[in-house]
Amino acid sequence: MYNDLIKEVDPCIRCGNCFMICPVVDLLPPSLKALNLLPLNLSRYIDFIKLSPDLPYYCTQCGECVLYCPLSIMTPRVFLLLREFSKGQALPSKIRDAILNTGNIYGMPNEMRVDWVTYAGLSGKVPVGVKADVAYFLGCMTSFRARLQKVAKACAILLNKVGESWTILGPEEHCCGLPLLFAGYVDAFKEIANRNVGALEHLGIEEVVFTCAGCYRVFKYEYERRGVKPPFKVLHVIEYIADLMKEGKLRLRRGKSKLNITWHDPCELSRYCGLVDEPRFILKALTDNLVEMSDSREWSKCCGGGGLLRAVHTELSSSMAKRRVEQALEVHADIIATACPSCILTLEEGAKGIIKVKDIVELVAEAF
Ligand code: SF4
Ligand code: SF4
Repeated sequence: MYNDLIKEVDPCIRCGNCFMICPVVDLLPPSLKALNLLPLNLSRYIDFIKLSPDLPYYCTQCGECVLYCPLSIMTPRVFLLLREFSKGQALPSKIRDAILNTGNIYGMPNEMRVDWVTYAGLSGKVPVGVKADVAYFLGCMTSFRARLQKVAKACAILLNKVGESWTILGPEEHCCGLPLLFAGYVDAFKEIANRNVGALEHLGIEEVVFTCAGCYRVFKYEYERRGVKPPFKVLHVIEYIADLMKEGKLRLRRGKSKLNITWHDPCELSRYCGLVDEPRFILKALTDNLVEMSDSREWSKCCGGGGLLRAVHTELSSSMAKRRVEQALEVHADIIATACPSCILTLEEGAKGIIKVKDIVELVAEAF
């Protein structure tokens, strides 16, 4: 692993661009700021990790630094390797145990993944574990968190409205494995990848739709990178909706909203997967007042909810969320729209009720 680290950082010319742009470094106290100067300080950093295994968690994996690196060095990957280095000592081992023992990050009985259907008043309207063309993969947060179950409800209503042959996996859905990857447990990640892909294959699924940006990225790229190639099409719901609109299968029922809506690009969708035009295409059908924050598209600022930062360094995560909300207020947005459960929870906490935060699927389900 040390060799992998050296290989990754070897081309670094020590220009400091990554350090200057990093939204986490910006908010760190001076002592930690110097330490986070990666990959400039690698050997020193490794010594410090032995004392403080939470150090590599001062990174949201947002990927912004890669845009500004003249050599495209994958600094987020360096942080992941450093987390592998400190395996077993850092806080997220609790999350690992929960995932491996129960199939979800909360350590809840996995059968409870379908409880949202009853809470949403959709009993009998959400197919569970049946053969279908399309599967909706919810992810742990959307399955279990009350706020996010509203997103699941909106997506289910949408799938029923367009007459899709669809299903959820229910108890057979397991965590996508991203937290395992973020915490450096690569073998466990591969195991879970095989399990999820196998469950979907078993139902003859042709397309899998995601409302979670993290699950989507994992299925789209990270499974295959670790040798598990999904045999079905992988679509984030914003791609799915945009396609339906272009094909004329989804038409606006209500007039356009007069509200100012701004789009917060989740890092996983914009920088990692290049989905920046689809959400704007959808939102322009919903409002004449799509307003852009100063940092948007590939250059979007992280909400602070990624890379397990929220789990390990909660206050720092909240400060990042507040800063992003301020950017939305600067352009007089009434609603921050996004498409990532982690962004929704983090931004809502940062917004403290001053501004609404909505998933784009909620806005679509209300309007179509
Ligand atoms: S991935 Fe984001 S948080 Fe991590 S070092 Fe790069 S800019 Fe900073
Ligand atoms: S931006 Fe790239 S080359 Fe410059 S210090 Fe960071 S990793 Fe090194």
